[in-house]
Amino acid sequence: MDQRETRIAIVTGGSRGIGRAIALELARNGYHVIVNYRSDTAGAEETVGMMEKEGFTGETSQFDVSDAEGTKQALDQIISRYKYIEVLVNNAGIAADGLFVMMPEKDWDAVITTTLKGFYNVTKPVMKRMIPKKRGSIVSISSVAGLIGNRGQANYSAAKAGLIGASRSIAAEVARLGIRVNVVAPGLIQTDMIKEAPVDIIKQMIPMARIGQPEEVARVVRFLCSEDASYITGQVISVNGGMV
Ligand code: NDP
Repeated sequence: MDQRETRIAIVTGGSRGIGRAIALELARNGYHVIVNYRSDTAGAEETVGMMEKEGFTGETSQFDVSDAEGTKQALDQIISRYKYIEVLVNNAGIAADGLFVMMPEKDWDAVITTTLKGFYNVTKPVMKRMIPKKRGSIVSISSVAGLIGNRGQANYSAAKAGLIGASRSIAAEVARLGIRVNVVAPGLIQTDMIKEAPVDIIKQMIPMARIGQPEEVARVVRFLCSEDASYITGQVISVNGGMV
């Protein structure tokens, strides 16, 4: 592979769900995609296998985005190999729901740390390499909960709202350097994450009266990463069937 011509994208949390769909969509659009995951090696390999089956390329990279040292080591290795990452999608995320008054500190910390510390740990080193190139696109996956809140999800909503604040601030810092920073805020999307959710009740709150598919989020991410979105930065795009 000629590394000088290879366009590289990193998708965190690409072993299943929305991250997998994003990784596939970016591969179809010409990127060699680095599929990060935390523990599901088989899932991440399956994502890369799906790309290869369609004639595209990718590779897996195991690191826990909330672990500063582990993330640094993995990214140092990736950056030393590829020098420059054109696209970063911060997709990795977890939920640990419960009413705030009963929420254990560990559940607060786990969700905030994965989402916000994870954003910091991954975005900063990747962005540093975008600056000399004066080119790059960063998209982070927030949630409708980060925009309007959600009962039982104070930790998740706080983390997802934090992503929006950080992204808007950074977008303003690097706009003149050719780097665009945006956020996608999905509503209810059919993945493992919503296995326990009362889908039939929630559906009644969705004007389109259906759950979204991961591919419907992935296509918006692909658009934001592309030149078609060349004048879009610091924005939050909702993909939620008309909820807000
Ligand atoms: P899933 O639970 O299906 O997948 C989560 C992915 O994130 C997995 O690949 C998982 O890897 C990875 N991951 C979790 N923690 C870490 C970590 N610390 N480091 C690296 N990777 C990690 O979730 P979805 O696909 O549903 O969600 C993807 C994103 O979209 C999340 O940020 C979520 O909050 C957001 N979102 C989802 C919605 C939905 O309805 N599904 C709605 C709105 C937003 P592994 O399997 O190896 O643990």
